[in-house]
Amino acid sequence: MLKANPNYLRLPGSYLFSTIAKKVAAYREANPDRNVISLGIGDVTRPLPPSVIKALHSAVDEMASEETFKGYAPDLGYEFLRRAIAENDFKSRGCDISEDEIFVSDGAKSDSGNIQEIFDESCRIAVCDPVYPVYVDSNVMAGRTGDYDPQSERWSRVIYMPCTEANGFVPAFPEEIPDVIYICSPNNPTGTAMKKEDLQRWVDYAREHRSVIIFDAAYEAYISEEDVPHSIYECSGAESCAIEIRSFSKNAGFTGTRLGYTVVPKALKDAEGAQLHGLWARRHGTKFNGAPYIQQKAGAAVYTPEGRREIRGLVSYYMENASTIRKGLADAGYKVYGGVNAPYIWLRTPEGMKSWEFFDHMLEDANVVGTPGAGFGPSGEGYFRLTAFGTHENTAEAVERIRRISVR
Ligand code: PLP
Repeated sequence: MLKANPNYLRLPGSYLFSTIAKKVAAYREANPDRNVISLGIGDVTRPLPPSVIKALHSAVDEMASEETFKGYAPDLGYEFLRRAIAENDFKSRGCDISEDEIFVSDGAKSDSGNIQEIFDESCRIAVCDPVYPVYVDSNVMAGRTGDYDPQSERWSRVIYMPCTEANGFVPAFPEEIPDVIYICSPNNPTGTAMKKEDLQRWVDYAREHRSVIIFDAAYEAYISEEDVPHSIYECSGAESCAIEIRSFSKNAGFTGTRLGYTVVPKALKDAEGAQLHGLWARRHGTKFNGAPYIQQKAGAAVYTPEGRREIRGLVSYYMENASTIRKGLADAGYKVYGGVNAPYIWLRTPEGMKSWEFFDHMLEDANVVGTPGAGFGPSGEGYFRLTAFGTHENTAEAVERIRRISVR
């Protein structure tokens, strides 16, 4: 008898951004004359940098010739890219990560959703609340999360670590000891980032309790403050307790081009000494046929001197938007967080408005789309996320509209 996977059937509702897209589409259909500005989904809007375009063209040309044609890529990624990553993202920061600990992939969403497969079903996961929805949902799909309580919007076996104004958006150690701890810094959705000493405390905690940290550094390129680590491996001892996930999406505009990587150090072992590196290599070998050569060439271009200069330009373009939003909303009386080391601004909704109420208010009265904080977890209730990924013009216009309707 054919039976659907019951874990999938237990996932509540649809994926957050599909719900938002449906609401916005319905509003647009009913109000075709309105110019709706989206600062909702975290997708980039600037074109790919010129050196990336050049690398893409030349890699495509290589595919046209018998001598340079490439078939399946190596499972773990081409050496030219893994070497560039090891040198630029780790060795240059004093992190002891070698190229054979780097697994090139099609992006951080797949890696952050798939990485849970190498852990036993019995493992307890801990997540920040609010959180990037992929971490919990992928564990629900794996049957690791217990029962869902629609009242509290929580899974019984998931350990939630509230991140709010009260703790400066840095999670406190939970009462129960987790096996797998998800940390995203700079954070989506709160736009805040962990200082080195805070992350070091988490690394020490994980080592003491033999837990593993899945560190999602998809927004690393947006860090502007000195005391915020770019990699968890800047913390001492992290090679024995942390996996790091990175993406080319937000630094270099690869959201539609697709490229990312995950670091699984060889020193990382489970409580019985099984090396997680080998398990992830096995998983990659079985379920992934390698990121395309063309994309990997484009990824390598990001590490050239021109590429680095160009991506700095992209990041500053978006961070100018972040600053426009921060300033504009603060002037209008909103309490705003983030936007200094991340392209997200996390604002407190006014007058105790619920996040989804505020979403409707923004959509209907300002024609601006943001993301309701409650969509990222119960502690996101009463907050709202705006992204800095729009154009300068749209961002300035959106902020102006929000200010206008905020004047009471
Ligand atoms: N991790 C976080 C925290 C994200 O916010 C996102 C995308 O928004 C991703 C991963 C996905 O990155 P990619 O485009 O590489 O799949």
